[in-house]
Amino acid sequence: MATQIQATIEIPLDIPDVEVLRTEIHPDGKLLIWVESQVESVRCGLCGREVRATFGHGQEIQLRHLPVLGMETYICMRPRRGRCVECETEPTTTQVLAWYDQRSPHTKVYDRYLLKQLVNSTIEDVSLSENVGYDAIVSALNRQIDAKVDWEQVDDLSTVGIDEVAMSKGRKNYAAIITARQKDGKVRILAVLPDRKKRL
Ligand SMILES: [Zn+2]
Repeated sequence: MATQIQATIEIPLDIPDVEVLRTEIHPDGKLLIWVESQVESVRCGLCGREVRATFGHGQEIQLRHLPVLGMETYICMRPRRGRCVECETEPTTTQVLAWYDQRSPHTKVYDRYLLKQLVNSTIEDVSLSENVGYDAIVSALNRQIDAKVDWEQVDDLSTVGIDEVAMSKGRKNYAAIITARQKDGKVRILAVLPDRKKRL
């Protein structure tokens, strides 16, 4: 019987301040990556003081991340918790890291990836191709609305695109994704403008 040799590679995760604990590929083709936060502190939710994040862990979260070799990829983590002894009730606070929003099921970089998929496409199409629910894509769009433009990162404004994306089935509410093609040929998202009624 011939033995198959599986070649492996190492690629950067593109997420700061975490250590990878293990990875798992499920039979349905999903890649799960377990990580542990290396950030040592958390701000007390009550008084705002910086406290050590050494009071155990919260519930496991699974965040959709950029696909790896075409696999649906998830970052799994039990966020660290800290307890503030300065506050009278000694409350515990769960860490939220810079690369995701508290109630989002996606990493921030995956939200931006979804937006790029929406350019010249529709929410339905992206929902099908990415296996992400319609509402999850609308939420991703909403999280990007009014996010500040980092002009330092923009080197060319000569080709600006405006893509209108229907935000809801049936109703005529649209968000606009503003993009600019950069000198290296890549498309950069500048802004997402909120829903509005389309004037016909
Ligand atoms: Zn406190």
